[in-house]
Amino acid sequence: MILVLMGPPGVGKGTQGARIAVHFDLPAISTGALFREEIANGTPLGIALKRYNVERGEYVPDEVVIRVVRERIMRPDCARGLLLDGFPRTEPQAEALDAMLDGLGRLVTAVLDFEAPIQVLVERFSGRRICPVDGSTYHIVNHPPVQPGLCDICSTQLVMRADDAPDVVERRLVIYKEKTEPLIGYYRRRGTLIVIDAVAEEETVFAHVIEALAQRRRAQWRAVS
Ligand code: AMP
Repeated sequence: MILVLMGPPGVGKGTQGARIAVHFDLPAISTGALFREEIANGTPLGIALKRYNVERGEYVPDEVVIRVVRERIMRPDCARGLLLDGFPRTEPQAEALDAMLDGLGRLVTAVLDFEAPIQVLVERFSGRRICPVDGSTYHIVNHPPVQPGLCDICSTQLVMRADDAPDVVERRLVIYKEKTEPLIGYYRRRGTLIVIDAVAEEETVFAHVIEALAQRRRAQWRAVS
């Protein structure tokens, strides 16, 4: 199974993605998390990413993102399937993904498009905290860590993402509308799009995702039998 997660920044893709990946035993590949790790480790890619203004919400050039994803999905843990969070974000990236998968004789199974109004996104951004060591994501109200302010996995002090500052959030939402929203049409035309109402609490949204994917599978079975 190859799943793609779409939706505006702050909608909860990271949280849902982690749960969906565990449920289906898929590696979760988040380009944003990969980039934050490269920046934190000061690698050559991390230094280049800073130059591209990733921390100010600007998109990384398509050719760079595509190269990183291509290398990642060739690893053996992706042989059975994978979940992509934050990629593709532009039409050239979507076309590159189709070409990569085509070369492997595979197809995107479903694109989950998480939708929520702007007030919900702002509330989620402002409460979001991440672990700077392992990248795990929390929310001070909706998904708090067991010990306030500390990562459940490694007990590191949680921090706000640099790009969750209000002025950067505004820019990220504008870029999303301009460059990524058109992809919804791209995947709708291919019949892979599933729209998920992401306003409800985490558990309810997750249940909707599992049910929507099961329905999709039943429909595919009916179509071939
Ligand atoms: P995210 O964690 O998905 O919100 O990504 C954080 C930041 O990484 C984004 O605001 C972009 O600057 C960059 N980024 C992540 N994925 C991509 C992508 N597919 N294309 C371009 N830039 C990306």
